Amino acid sequence: MDKPYVSIVVPAYNEEGNLNPLMERLLPVMRGLGKPFEIIFTDDGSRDRTLSILKGMLPSVPELRLIEFNGNFGQHMAILAAFEKSSGEIVITLDADLQNPPEEIPRLIAEIEKGHDVVGTIRLKRQDTFFRKAASRVVNITTNKMTGMKMSDYGCMLRAYHRDVVDNINHCQETTTFIPALAQTFAANPTEIEVGHAERGEGESKYSLYRLIRLNFDLMTGFSVVPLQLFALMGILTSVASVGFAVFLMIRRFIIGAEVEGVFTLFAILFFFIGIVIFGIGLVGEYVGRIYQEVRKRPRYVVRRVHGFQ
Ligand code: UDP
Ligand code: MG
Repeated sequence: MDKPYVSIVVPAYNEEGNLNPLMERLLPVMRGLGKPFEIIFTDDGSRDRTLSILKGMLPSVPELRLIEFNGNFGQHMAILAAFEKSSGEIVITLDADLQNPPEEIPRLIAEIEKGHDVVGTIRLKRQDTFFRKAASRVVNITTNKMTGMKMSDYGCMLRAYHRDVVDNINHCQETTTFIPALAQTFAANPTEIEVGHAERGEGESKYSLYRLIRLNFDLMTGFSVVPLQLFALMGILTSVASVGFAVFLMIRRFIIGAEVEGVFTLFAILFFFIGIVIFGIGLVGEYVGRIYQEVRKRPRYVVRRVHGFQ
């Protein structure tokens, strides 16, 4: 077997209904390139027939590789495991749910061949719920502000990376990460193109609101300490404002005299500040928790078995 030129990386978690349609579209695209390639699936601890369907494809698709996780370690860990096993000059990530059209792959490859080392994508006519789109807009803007990166669409996983960038990512050992942002920190010459976006094939999104919030904490706190700095700034502003408030109350007391009305207003103000304090403790906790995870040095994911690799 020739050394692959392109490695396609697909994380899959409970995607039984999408695998066959995906391969039916992906294989012709890849064969049409006329270059050696490999398709690496990571089964992220699926509880449906995902693993058995993929295993069943192995004999008929010599380019197929399969990494079997020993549990659900998340989309980004699934991609990282495949990155470590990949050997293509160009590595392309793709979702298993057919939201990213495989037909766009040749355009991504063309951009890498032009000399770009990371090809990001912007989803045209994004087919997600209104809530997801609005949330993404907020995330994209705040992340760009906080990290100083310039990426239009952090959430689109149809992306291409040059081997050098993937090698750099493979050297990172952090336990929580967000791959597009990590790649961006290593990119010397990134570009972005617009790609199509479809509705999810079968099944439901694997991200509940809770998991989405967790993922975005990974993105925000994993790539910037600006939240901590903002918080410290807010603390300073609050204390300055409260000194002003105290002075105001003192003057008022001289003019109007003692009073207990307005005590609920005071409560409202108090609750507001207590809310900020609790938020701040939680924020510090996020960072401390991450440091704790890193120092424990547990394996980031556990591979049970691999198939199809030489
Ligand atoms: N995925 C995964 N592990 C997870 C969650 C998701 O490997 O714990 C995969 C999933 O199978 C899909 C991709 O990551 O291929 C994106 O997930 P999904 O489509 O649910 O996310 P959304 O498109 O809603 O952001
Ligand atoms: Mg999806």
